[in-house]
Amino acid sequence: MAVLALDIGGTKIAAATYANSNLTQLARVPTPTGDLQRFVDCIAQLHERATEVSAIAISLAGVIDPETGMVTSANIPAIHQSRLGKILQSVLSKPVIIANDADCFALAEAVLGAGRGHNSVFGLILGTGVGGGLVLNKQLVQGAGGFAGEWGHGPFPALVELSKFNDHIAQLPGRIEASSKVLFPAWPCGCGLAGCLDVYGGARGLERIHSFLHRAQQSSEAIVESWQQGEQEAALTIECFLQVLAGPLTLLINTFGASCLPVGGGVSNAKKLIEQLDKKVRAKSLCKHKRPIIVPAQLGSDAGQLGAALLAQRGQNNDS
Ligand SMILES: [Zn+2]
Repeated sequence: MAVLALDIGGTKIAAATYANSNLTQLARVPTPTGDLQRFVDCIAQLHERATEVSAIAISLAGVIDPETGMVTSANIPAIHQSRLGKILQSVLSKPVIIANDADCFALAEAVLGAGRGHNSVFGLILGTGVGGGLVLNKQLVQGAGGFAGEWGHGPFPALVELSKFNDHIAQLPGRIEASSKVLFPAWPCGCGLAGCLDVYGGARGLERIHSFLHRAQQSSEAIVESWQQGEQEAALTIECFLQVLAGPLTLLINTFGASCLPVGGGVSNAKKLIEQLDKKVRAKSLCKHKRPIIVPAQLGSDAGQLGAALLAQRGQNNDS
């Protein structure tokens, strides 16, 4: 059974057909973000280009309430607070399955990618911010409201220990007097809270930490590059970034018994950074894994379409 697999982000839609375990890319078009009817027309046109598909599978930059089908999408106002699945189903007269893009990534990596053979897989997105998806025994866990896997939200004190940088930290902002600890401000988060991991843990978080410590604006790529060249200020920033991420990640791994965390998103391109994060987390987690558990994802940009297609096929086969 062939499926039309769509990866819908805030700027583009990638369309492919999925059949016999293979993806065939069909088209990439700009996402109509401002108008629901134009958005629906765009999907209908992509559907016309795909021959003999029995369902439409969508990996979406948004959260879908599994109970009501209501979409929340900050990046695509056209479909925000709509029941997109029902609308498309009535226009296309075929089953439409929609899931969050991080969830699709996690499911694809768990079943077909880096997480194959593991019962508890957490797909980790380190992009502009942080996101993720939980897959237990090859089944995606969506949770109440569809929010399972959103480990980047919920406030916590971002406190780091910098004794190995003692010569450099006396004047650092956030330093707790007469100690080697630095406490970062609880910066406001897009979710309405303040001090969530999302404000520290992705590319923007890395830049924010660097700017706070050194009063210098640098891109995340430049900070990572300077760190790899042994530059001291960047090393301090990276140490803070890794410590802030490692605590919540350890909690997550201990809670779900996750034995593989494939990493996607722009920050995952910094392989040495991911290696260091893995080492820090394994040193803290209760289960002493001998091999890396935070590892590069394997499916690249196909992961969203593959995960959505898997969900659609399971829906049709009633084996999920
Ligand atoms: Zn938040």
